[in-house]
Amino acid sequence: MALIVQKFGGTSVGSIERIEQVAAKVRKFREEGHQVVVVVSAMSGETNRLLGLAKQITSKPSLREMDMMVSTGEQVTIALLAIALMKQGMPAISFTGTQVPIVTDSSYSKARILSIDESKIRTELDVGKVVVVAGFQGVDEQGHITTLGRGGSDTTAVAIAAALKADECQIYTDVDGVYTTDPRVVPKAKRLEKITFEEMLEMASLGSKVLQIRAVEFAGKYNVPLRVLHSFQEGAGTLITLDDEESMEQPIISGIAFSRDEAKLTIRGVPDTPGVAYKILGSISDANIEIDMIVQNVAKDHTTDFTFTVNHLDYDKAMEILQNTASQIGAREVAGTTNIAKVSIVGVGMRSHAGVASQMFGALAKENINIQMISTSEIKVSVVLDEKYLELAVRSLHTAFGLDA
Ligand code: ASP
Ligand code: MG
Repeated sequence: MALIVQKFGGTSVGSIERIEQVAAKVRKFREEGHQVVVVVSAMSGETNRLLGLAKQITSKPSLREMDMMVSTGEQVTIALLAIALMKQGMPAISFTGTQVPIVTDSSYSKARILSIDESKIRTELDVGKVVVVAGFQGVDEQGHITTLGRGGSDTTAVAIAAALKADECQIYTDVDGVYTTDPRVVPKAKRLEKITFEEMLEMASLGSKVLQIRAVEFAGKYNVPLRVLHSFQEGAGTLITLDDEESMEQPIISGIAFSRDEAKLTIRGVPDTPGVAYKILGSISDANIEIDMIVQNVAKDHTTDFTFTVNHLDYDKAMEILQNTASQIGAREVAGTTNIAKVSIVGVGMRSHAGVASQMFGALAKENINIQMISTSEIKVSVVLDEKYLELAVRSLHTAFGLDA
């Protein structure tokens, strides 16, 4: 008998019919003898609908009242699911975040979980009930309702699993697992049986948006085995877990992530003196713009060229700042483009294998794809290339690293 936390997102509880299907699924697990806690989101579209109501009154509503309001979306689904379970003969009880309680700080709309008192949940599990908990919400120390930020139900599920030391936290969604890359780009992409927390974080932060990043971080920190599964299809999904050293035969590369949301800026002919990097990049960060990759080259004439990437939404602002900096420090010119993409190969196997980066560059060279920038970490190699070669690059790397189904 295992203790399992199951999370169902907005589309999985998007209609009464679906809620009844979810109830049937949960019931199956109970009948196999497992204890089940279910965390649900609001019905799909409901959180946006609620936010929209307040925005009709003012563009700057009180954040406390916004949390008070949007938390009702989840309060509806927990009750409906409990009712559906009971109708199917399965004893159930629902709790809001306040009732559990899930205690958070007071940062309305983006609260952080401080502690969870799991005793009430445990008492109900022990008398054989399915416990249904509202995702996305908590309560601060003064008793005010808070929410965890958009998509926060994943984090609720992981946090409850951690508090209960559950055997597994299952995230049910509209895909049947984590893939080696986006199947829309590479039809031969395949579902991964297993991936490590670290790899998942790299894949997710690069745009494989299956799970909330924060939930994966949380699961890694507390070592909660996470499984991503399809809500209404059978299948084992993908298990996200710690790196197990014993699986020596695991592929060197687990997946290929990519992002079109990049933009590249270059400042040329900068006097090569101490403090230039700080002057150039400091003013960008001061504007709250996140810098991703950085490349610096020094020429014979003691000037340097700097190239860096930012999110394409920050491109115009970054360009304006860079032009200012350029005239202040006497740089020769400034250039940039948003027509770039970033492709990364990700895998913990890289730690124990040499030559992975050159294999990547070789595969791209064979397709005549020019690499504009490179960056590496322990488990990732990223390149920036012309956006028009993105799909070709991903497909050829997928083949080169033996990931094709
Ligand atoms: N209902 C919330 C949202 O739409 C939380 C969630 O779905 O995880 O962001
Ligand atoms: Mg969601």
